[in-house]
Amino acid sequence: MENANSFCQPMEYTGLPNTGNWAGYEYLQWTGDVFHPGIDYNWGAGEQDKGKPIFAIANGIVEKTIKWDGKTKGFGNHILIKHILGFDYELNGRQFKKGDILYSHYCHLDTIDCKEGQEVSKGDKIGTCGGSGGWPSHLHIELRKALGYDFWPIGYTAEWIKERYFDVYQFVEDNKGDNMSDDLKECLKLHTQLVNECTQKDKQIKKLEDNLRKKNEDLEKANENTVACNNLLKDLEKEVENMPETDCEEKVKLALKNNEEKHKIELDKLNGVITDLENNQQSINKLQEKITELENSQEYKIGEALVKVFNKITFKRS
Ligand SMILES: [Zn+2]
Repeated sequence: MENANSFCQPMEYTGLPNTGNWAGYEYLQWTGDVFHPGIDYNWGAGEQDKGKPIFAIANGIVEKTIKWDGKTKGFGNHILIKHILGFDYELNGRQFKKGDILYSHYCHLDTIDCKEGQEVSKGDKIGTCGGSGGWPSHLHIELRKALGYDFWPIGYTAEWIKERYFDVYQFVEDNKGDNMSDDLKECLKLHTQLVNECTQKDKQIKKLEDNLRKKNEDLEKANENTVACNNLLKDLEKEVENMPETDCEEKVKLALKNNEEKHKIELDKLNGVITDLENNQQSINKLQEKITELENSQEYKIGEALVKVFNKITFKRS
């Protein structure tokens, strides 16, 4: 027999609470004569779950199947499955140890689809949902210690019951995950890491966004300042426009006068330069005349002839 290494819910939930013809009982709810030791699955629903499959909540062995006599009010057709817990676990302060023996008890079944002594795996169909025992269809399921097949804890305190019956829904929910393969566990771990990293990045992004918002606020303020400046400029323009014309005329005249004076000084400078240039040109002309005079002189012509003769001699030697 394989250990109960993980758990699954015994049936799907098809109804809504407090609708239909009968609302079932929760774990340890007072029913009027007993602290309800199990949980009524699909409680509050009508007959729509009749015939739906009921699954073994974990690996185990079918300890007992009991057929309803069709008359007695009670568990009806019911199945007791024995499990060996495959892990340590704590539920509401109660410690469970690997190797603990637990029983799951499925009641009011429409049909029983397993045999005593049969080994079952988590999720195997063991019967169908029904109302046997004189009830509207629902699954009354208990997770408990060995207490006999037909035990019903009338007259016992909630504390006594809590020691021997356990919240099956919570027990299953807390221990659903361990059926994961090592690969899947690794994936989940990686996923968790990524989620953490993403959260970290999100925080960074949020910080940056906050900064950006602050910068935008600054920019808005600067824009407001610019608008204020422009308004000031417009006001100034208006002021100039509204200035008396005589004032303007005088100002313009003064400016022109100033400019004229400056212009005159520049002009004088230019004239000076032109005079210098003209003087230079006269000097050049005089020199040119002297050169022409020299070129036409007897000495120059003799010299020219001498250079020609000298060049010829040099040419011959080379
Ligand atoms: Zn019940």
